[in-house]
Amino acid sequence: MKREEIKEKWRGKSEDIISGMLEWRIQHPKATFREIEAEVDQRLSELRVRMIADAALSSASAEWGVDGKAEVCPNCGAELVGKGKKKRKMQTRGGQEVELEREYGECPKCGQGIFPPG
Ligand SMILES: [Zn+2]
Repeated sequence: MKREEIKEKWRGKSEDIISGMLEWRIQHPKATFREIEAEVDQRLSELRVRMIADAALSSASAEWGVDGKAEVCPNCGAELVGKGKKKRKMQTRGGQEVELEREYGECPKCGQGIFPPG
């Protein structure tokens, strides 16, 4: 995904959150401070997860060998063999699960499987 596309996506999501929150407040005029806080947190956490996933996948290293440089095994230094895309589940600090689909490589020497750095 290109930088401008990501920006547009995040901006759209932010605007949805802002309008959604204002709308929610109108519909919940008697909400307590805690309820408002929970609602804001819930909405922002969706944006947070989206941003983490997009930012993680937008780095050049999220794609295998795009810069023409071979990835090497951190164990033995042998050139890794690309094994196609694999899904990798990551946990955010908030405990939400983010699924990233990234290129995956394997070391022909020691057999270690590795996702590119990032
Ligand atoms: Zn190795």
